[in-house]
Amino acid sequence: MPECSPPSRRARYDVMVCGGGAAGVGAAIGAARAGGRVALLEQAPFLGGAATRSGVLTYCGFWTQAEPPRRAVGGVGAEVLGALDALGGMSGPFRTEGTRVVIALIEPEAVKLALDRLCAAAGVDVILHGRLCAAESDAETVRSAIALDHAGTFALDAAAFVDASGEADLAELAGAATRYGDAEGRVQNGTLAMRIGGVPRDADISRAVWAGAVRDAKGRGAKRMTKERGLVARLPHSGEILAFLADEAYDALDARSTSEAERHAREQAWAYIEAIRTLPGHEAAYLIATGPAIGTRESRHVIARARLRADDVINSRVPGDSVALGAWPIEGHPGPGLPSAWRRLRNDAAYGIGLDVLKSATHRNLFAAGRVIDADADAFASARVMGTAFATGHAAGIAAALVADGRTADAAAVRAEVLRQNGILDLEKKASP
Ligand SMILES: Cc1cc2nc3c(=O)[nH]c(=O)nc-3n(C[C@H](O)[C@H](O)[C@H](O)COP(=O)(O)OP(=O)(O)OC[C@H]3O[C@@H](n4cnc5c(N)ncnc54)[C@H](O)[C@@H]3O)c2cc1C
Repeated sequence: MPECSPPSRRARYDVMVCGGGAAGVGAAIGAARAGGRVALLEQAPFLGGAATRSGVLTYCGFWTQAEPPRRAVGGVGAEVLGALDALGGMSGPFRTEGTRVVIALIEPEAVKLALDRLCAAAGVDVILHGRLCAAESDAETVRSAIALDHAGTFALDAAAFVDASGEADLAELAGAATRYGDAEGRVQNGTLAMRIGGVPRDADISRAVWAGAVRDAKGRGAKRMTKERGLVARLPHSGEILAFLADEAYDALDARSTSEAERHAREQAWAYIEAIRTLPGHEAAYLIATGPAIGTRESRHVIARARLRADDVINSRVPGDSVALGAWPIEGHPGPGLPSAWRRLRNDAAYGIGLDVLKSATHRNLFAAGRVIDADADAFASARVMGTAFATGHAAGIAAALVADGRTADAAAVRAEVLRQNGILDLEKKASP
């Protein structure tokens, strides 16, 4: 791995969390509530991860798909929903048109403020604008995360670490075992989100109508657009439209590959606008924003002591060592322009994620959270969503705080603390939303 200059500043924590998305925020607050002094490092100027950096403004996985839906994520994730609701920054849960899955729509500025406030209230030391660039470690212990800002490099020493970076940067830099994509090195495709204005609320924005417009545009010779049918939803307050259509295949670990994908996806976004302007009520449609960053669904994973398996996910199994629940169907994105592949969970229930799925196989004080966890391709296609990322983060942060405190961090201890912090580990014991 590349070398950074030696750190000129050092600070000491119990737990260091890399990445301030859903998983990292869940981890940092969970660890702080368990008694740890916690640093949360994020390269962006705000928290929220894909929600705020990549315009992924639909929280999935918080609820089961049953009728009525049941809450599967409590703890930090539930507090975030409560804070968003109080800011008027969330609508839902409701079922989507088309796939009929249960989601909540969120407003990005509300997410930024809610996460700032929740982290501050928990006493988390949030460091924005800092990019992890190296780590100090030996064969089985991580000692320090080294980050870069405009003043040089600084070290965040800690007794335990959570990799919630989405790309498993911390694990890789620390020399822990990692893997790119699934067992064959395949990853889900990414998508550049589009926010669109100028379409009145009474216009028909159904997927079928938009897909027709895209097909017609292709028939007229338009070339750039990949997907014909994807999520199209109206944000509750602004009335703007959120669309996930501009798919790209690229390597999110490689700056040139990601740059090329973003350039091409922006061309796509403008082509989609041109296509939908032919629809009734869409004549004045315009692009408010893309991304800003392309949304990466998958790159590198931490290799853990156990792998989450599709068979357990699809059959809604909840093993006794579960420290988080997943409730989203399997939702695969196999390649640009290809339709998403959906499989619902047995009884529209939830499955358990064991502590070993979050524990690095090689480094005893390193935990994985969010989309870097160890899962086979189909299990990952469910567990990657943000509701579940809050839950795996919450559990990983608690496990890290226990390790830092010199306590046993086995599944029983982590479960007890997750429950003490109002997490949900058993649907039967929790009321509906
Ligand atoms: C196009 C698209 C659509 C999706 N649709 C949905 C949906 O509708 N609902 C849903 O719930 N989920 C959806 N997902 C999945 C979901 O967004 C992610 O799986 C989820 O955000 C994972 O959370 P995370 O915290 O693990 O990672 P992320 O949200 O990716 O957060 C990782 C954070 O780590 C930071 N980071 C990375 N490297 C470093 C570093 N070296 N130093 C410092 N900081 C670093 C990043 O800046 C980022 O903020 C979608 C994903 C994509 C791409």
